Amino acid sequence: MPGYLDMATYLCEKCGKTIDSNELMGLPGIRCPVCGHRILYKSRSPIIREIKAR
Ligand SMILES: [Zn+2]
Repeated sequence: MPGYLDMATYLCEKCGKTIDSNELMGLPGIRCPVCGHRILYKSRSPIIREIKAR
């Protein structure tokens, strides 16, 4: 399905803004709502896990 985005978080390459897929659905295309940059990194892990060193 064109335009379908699964649940994921995107990271703007230019300004580093993290964008939820729900926010992208409200936009005419995949682009950063802040700076308009079109290259977004897709991340399925919105929460950066900290690996605890013991
Ligand atoms: Zn941006």
